[in-house]
Amino acid sequence: MQSEELTLNRRKFLALGLATGAGFILGAPRFAKAAQIYPYPVLPYAENALEPVISAKTMGFHYGKHHKGYVDKLNSELAKPENAQYAAMTNLETLIVKVAGKKKAVILFNNAAQIWNHSFYWNSLKPGGSQPSAAMQQKITEAFGDYAKFKAALADAATSQFGSGWAWLVLNRGKLAILRTSNADTPLTMKGYTPLLTIDVWEHAYYLDYQNKRAAYVAEVIDKLLNWEFAEANLNKALAGGKPH
Ligand code: MN
Repeated sequence: MQSEELTLNRRKFLALGLATGAGFILGAPRFAKAAQIYPYPVLPYAENALEPVISAKTMGFHYGKHHKGYVDKLNSELAKPENAQYAAMTNLETLIVKVAGKKKAVILFNNAAQIWNHSFYWNSLKPGGSQPSAAMQQKITEAFGDYAKFKAALADAATSQFGSGWAWLVLNRGKLAILRTSNADTPLTMKGYTPLLTIDVWEHAYYLDYQNKRAAYVAEVIDKLLNWEFAEANLNKALAGGKPH
C-alpha cells in the first residue's frame, strides 16, 4: 500500500513538474510532500525598498505572512481529492476565472485571487515612484480631466471601500476608469475590464505604519510609489489585444 501510494505520488509529481515546465531534481524527500503547483511569487524589490512610505516591517508581514499564506492555502486545497479538476490547471488566471462565482470553490477563488492581486500590487509600486509618460498623461486627461482629478478619484475609491478590498485603475472600452473591489474580488473576472494598477486597502497593508489612517497611506502611495511603467505596459498589452501577465 505504502509503495503504491509512493508510486502514485511520484507519477503525479512528475506530471505536474512537466505541466508547469518546472525543473525538478530526483530525490526521495521531494515525494514526501504534496507538489507545490503555484510557487510563492518573488517580491520584485527588497522588503525595505518602499520605505519610508511602507516599512520593511509591514512588508515582512504582508508579503512574508499574508501573501505566502494565500499560496500555501491554495496549494493545500488543490491537494484535496475533491479539487482534482482544478489541480490539473496550472495557470493562475485561468483558475481564478474558472472558480469565480462558484459557491463550492470559494476558498480556491479567495486564495487564488489574493495571490494574483498581491503580485499585481507589488508590481504596481516602484521604489522611488515614477511619472506617467506623455501618452499615459493623455489617457488620464481624456478620462479624468487632469492628473489632480485622477488622483482624487483613485484616493476616493481607496478610502471609501468599506472594509477590506482593493482600488484599481483599469481600462474599460478603451478608456481609463477607477473601480474598487471587496475582499479578494478582482477585475480579472470582469468582462471588458483590464487592471492597470492597484492599491491594497486591507488593513494589513497599512495598519502597522498608519494605524487607522487609511487616507494617509493611500495619499502617500499615490504620490510616491505608483509604477506608471507597469501601468503603461499593461495598457499597451490590453490595447494590442492581450491581458496583463
Ligand atoms: Mn494584502
